[in-house]
Amino acid sequence: MAKRDYYEVLGVERNANEEAIKKAYRKLAMQYHPDRNKGDKTAEEKFKEVGEAYAVLSDSDKRARYDRFGHAATGPGAGAGAPGTFEFDLSDALRQFMEGGLFGDFFGGLRSEPRGPTRTRGGDLQISMKLTLEEIATGVTKKIKVHRYQSCEECGGSGAKRGTSRTTCSTCRGSGQVRQVSRSILGQFINITTCPQCQGQGTIAKDPCPACRGEGRVRGESVVTVEIPAGVATGNYIQMRGHGNAGPHGGPAGDLIVVIEEKEHAYFTRRGNDILYEIILSIPQAVLGDEVEVPTLTGRARLHIEPGTPPGRILRMRGRGLKQLNGHSTGDQLVEINLYVPERLTAHEKRLFEELKQSESLKPKTDQKSFFGKVKDSFNA
Ligand SMILES: [Zn+2]
Ligand SMILES: [Zn+2]
Repeated sequence: MAKRDYYEVLGVERNANEEAIKKAYRKLAMQYHPDRNKGDKTAEEKFKEVGEAYAVLSDSDKRARYDRFGHAATGPGAGAGAPGTFEFDLSDALRQFMEGGLFGDFFGGLRSEPRGPTRTRGGDLQISMKLTLEEIATGVTKKIKVHRYQSCEECGGSGAKRGTSRTTCSTCRGSGQVRQVSRSILGQFINITTCPQCQGQGTIAKDPCPACRGEGRVRGESVVTVEIPAGVATGNYIQMRGHGNAGPHGGPAGDLIVVIEEKEHAYFTRRGNDILYEIILSIPQAVLGDEVEVPTLTGRARLHIEPGTPPGRILRMRGRGLKQLNGHSTGDQLVEINLYVPERLTAHEKRLFEELKQSESLKPKTDQKSFFGKVKDSFNA
C-alpha cells in the first residue's frame, strides 16, 4: 500500500512548526486511539499512520531527511522489508502516545497512573557505509560486523545467576515506582519517581549473573546483513529494527542505523540519477563518425558517433544511469564529447594537416562558434 505524505496524514502545512505538528497529532491520536475504537481496524490503521507521521515530523533530524528524500529517507525496514516500508507497528504507536505525555490528556488530565515496571530499551547504533556507484546502480547486500551489547547468554538476559530468578523488589513491591508524599502550605504533593532500588524494573537479582554482572547484557560482536536498494544517495539511511544495543535486563534492543555514503568514482560523476562521462575522440573520429565502446555502470556499451560531432556535444545513453530510489524511472548516462589534439605529428601526418588547413570549407564560421557555446551552457545548467 502506498504511503500517504506525512504532512497530509497530520493535516498540516509543510512549514508547520513543532507546536502545530504536536497539536495535530494529539487531536488525531486521541480520535483514533484503540481504546476509543474497540475492534475498529480502520481506526487502528489511522492511529498507526498518525503515530508514524508524528514520529518522523516531531524529530527535526528525521523531518529534514524526510523533506529531502520522502519516504525513502525513513528507511527500508529491517532486512527483508521492501524499500520504504518503515516498520511502525501498533506497539510503537502506543508507546509514542504514552511518551508524548498524551496519556494524561486522554484520561481527563489525571496524569500519572503508575505505569508499572519499565523495561529499558537499548541504545541505537549508527554506522556509515561507503558504496561505489556500481553498487548503488544495482543495489547490494552487505554483511557488516557490529560491536554492540548483546543479551547475556549465560542468564538469558535476566541478570540473575543461572538457576536463580529475579525476585520482586521490596522497595516498590514490583511497581517499579515509588510515591513520595510531601506537604507544603500549598497542599499535598504526590511525587512518583522511578524506584531507586530496582531502577524501575520491579524486580531485582539477589544473586547477579557473573557473566554480565547482573546487567543482562554483554559486549559482543554480531554480523548483520543489510540490503541496500538501488538508487540510494549519500545521507540516505536504513533503519534496522532491533539490531542496536540490547537493553539491560532483557529490555528491547535499540536500532542499527546504517547511513549511506557514496564513494567518489574514478571517471563517472553523478548528477541525481544521471551519470556524466567524458569521452575523448580523435579529430578524424569526430569528423568522420565512429562506433566506440564506453564504460557504463553495468559494463561496456557501444556508442554511435555521428559524422561531424563537435566537442562539447552531449550524447544521451538512455536508461544507463541510476534507478530512482523506490521509483520506476531510471536516469541516463550523458557522454560529453571532447577532442584529442596531438602535439607531435609524423612528417606524413603533418603534410596531410597542412593540406587540410588550406581547405576553405574547413574554416570555422562565426555562427557555428555560438552554437557550441549553447551546447556547453545546456550541459552546465
Ligand atoms: Zn548474565
Ligand atoms: Zn523497586
